[in-house]
Amino acid sequence: MTPIPATTLPSGEKLPVLGQGTWAMGEDRHARKAEVAALRLGLDLGLTVIDTAEMYADGGAEKVVAEAIAGRRDEVFLISKVLPEHAARRAATAACERSLKRLKTDRIDLYLLHWRETTPLEETLDAFLELRRAGKIRHFGVSNFDLDDMKELLRLAGGAAVAANEVMYNLNRRGIEFSLKRWCRRKGIPVIAYSPLDQGSLARSRELKRIADRLGVSAAQLALAWLARQPGVIAIPKAGDPAHLRENRAALDVRLSRATLASLDRAFPSPRGKRALETT
Ligand code: NAP
Repeated sequence: MTPIPATTLPSGEKLPVLGQGTWAMGEDRHARKAEVAALRLGLDLGLTVIDTAEMYADGGAEKVVAEAIAGRRDEVFLISKVLPEHAARRAATAACERSLKRLKTDRIDLYLLHWRETTPLEETLDAFLELRRAGKIRHFGVSNFDLDDMKELLRLAGGAAVAANEVMYNLNRRGIEFSLKRWCRRKGIPVIAYSPLDQGSLARSRELKRIADRLGVSAAQLALAWLARQPGVIAIPKAGDPAHLRENRAALDVRLSRATLASLDRAFPSPRGKRALETT
């Protein structure tokens, strides 16, 4: 296995470009053992970025993560998210404390605002800066922020320390390529690509499979290889099936020629104009 390529956070810290999602984990207690085992297998494979949120299974996913990282906390780069309804100053601090408790850890590596609603950004930013000072989070970031939101954040005192923007990005949904992705790259802010398999649909795409067949890889591997080769992008597929995890890890060994990239562009074109940010 080749080593996992890394991307760099604004702090200079390096992160592997392939991680693990946890949406839909923690919903069914009968699935818990398998979910914990999947995340642990992912860690064994070097997929040490784990993305979770207070929203997933009402905190249930964070509890699954706690079990998976028990005894291995230092291997993991842990991402969690605060809901917009907890985005006000004191509520965000309290939400973070609850997440830490469920995660059974003393720190979250990257704490994101899950999406923006009506709470003034300054308030959430204040809470994030305070949590960082207290060592409860190491970095803060945002999710589902389009270009105008990012620009607004960077105008606020302390906002330029934003460590990442987590947005939907995959071959079917390339809207961020028009402006947001380039802007983030210029600012050195990594993009965390969520739903990198378009919630599994790319793994079943006939069009993608036709291109993948020529390379002797699966459609899912091609979708992930396409993301992982892009500078400043980290993909966080969710995989509960051990075979999927191994397959996804092996996607990093797939090399894409110019001809393959051109075929992908024809089948899954990049937008020609600005589109509203796509979300799940
Ligand atoms: P995804 O990762 O695009 O797709 C997950 C689906 O793909 C699962 O059904 C999984 O099945 C399947 N899969 C994984 N590897 C596969 C493979 N090699 N072959 C075939 N199928 C495969 O979708 P997602 O869960 O929406 O996104 C990933 C993560 O991003 C989430 O889990 C969450 O952590 C994060 N997210 C964040 C936001 C946000 O607003 N910030 C929104 C959505 C998602 P198995 O489980 O059976 O392996």
